[in-house]
Amino acid sequence: MSSTLQDAPQAGRPDADGTVEQDIRFAAPAAVLLATGQPVQDEAFLPVLLAEAARFGLGHVVAVLPAGQPHAALDAMATARGVTLHIRETTAAPRSLGALRAALPVVTDGFLLLDGAGVAESNLLALPLHAGEAPAALVMRPGPTAGWAGAAWMRAGLAASLGADEMPLHQALPPLLASGQARGLEASGRWLDPATTHALPPRPAAFLDRDGVLIVDDHYPHDPAKVQWIPGAWQAVRRLNEAGYFVFVVTNQAGVGRGYYTEATVRHLHRWMAAEMAQAGAHIDAFEYCPHHPEADVAAYRRSCHRRKPGPGMILDLMAHWPVERAGSFMIGDRSTDVAAAAAAGLPGHLFPSDDLDRMTTIILSASNFSGV
Ligand SMILES: [Mg+2]
Repeated sequence: MSSTLQDAPQAGRPDADGTVEQDIRFAAPAAVLLATGQPVQDEAFLPVLLAEAARFGLGHVVAVLPAGQPHAALDAMATARGVTLHIRETTAAPRSLGALRAALPVVTDGFLLLDGAGVAESNLLALPLHAGEAPAALVMRPGPTAGWAGAAWMRAGLAASLGADEMPLHQALPPLLASGQARGLEASGRWLDPATTHALPPRPAAFLDRDGVLIVDDHYPHDPAKVQWIPGAWQAVRRLNEAGYFVFVVTNQAGVGRGYYTEATVRHLHRWMAAEMAQAGAHIDAFEYCPHHPEADVAAYRRSCHRRKPGPGMILDLMAHWPVERAGSFMIGDRSTDVAAAAAAGLPGHLFPSDDLDRMTTIILSASNFSGV
């Protein structure tokens, strides 16, 4: 296996050189998914929420279900996404404080809560970041006034002490805003409705070259200790996350074919980049790389490859694997081969002078016709 989809975040697998990668999920807090208690609806919608949590690298998901409710679809999605799924069965009323409390024995102090009755799309990594000094919780609300947009970051101690088990979450959480126990964050994303959402919703995508766009291209960068970030790189990725875009890295890595470093080195750098960006609430959905070169010194990598830019292969593979909307999608690269790869995939390509990525991204987004968020 020379290069594959979804280098991160995914569970480890062997490289061409035989190295087995460590699990590359972040040590992030668990996500808790609350069922509605309507089995057919839960079997369709909870896997969507789990896929969304997995997309942001949350490796542990707790699903609280009414006792005896089937969860085959949820199990299958967890397996497909490399997520550790904890099923907690409860006799408490669905979506009540009692149901939430059923999850507390297996969550960390500080977890993400997603409501099976509907959630506003958001940058899940940014929730704990925005919580900052919030006393106990950050509650997504549907507008400037109090309400419940289906997502929160919360401390376990608060969940344990909020009120009676029977109280529904949509009644228990909004008053925390008024009392100062929680801060509010206005939801800007589309509403994911369990009645109509049965798969990850389509989104436009930003395809980013790596060297010269996210990190300084100082001749085959591969050592995290020597990496220099391009100014505005983290901010740009977070801006794209919050605008509802998929964010993908597509990078030629002929240094593998030339024998300068291995695929394991490339994957290690991508894990490091993902972890660094996560600290700033920024998230890359997948890293794609092509290790081939027609004149590679290492015979196993010596070939013309449609994935090597200016070929469109990496972009097309991502578009086949993820629900990417063409409208609004674009590529940013620092070489003409990046722009050519985008053109070959039928997308606009923007040549980046390696100055400030957030400034360029802001300009591109302001001109985009994507109106999903
Ligand atoms: Mg480049």
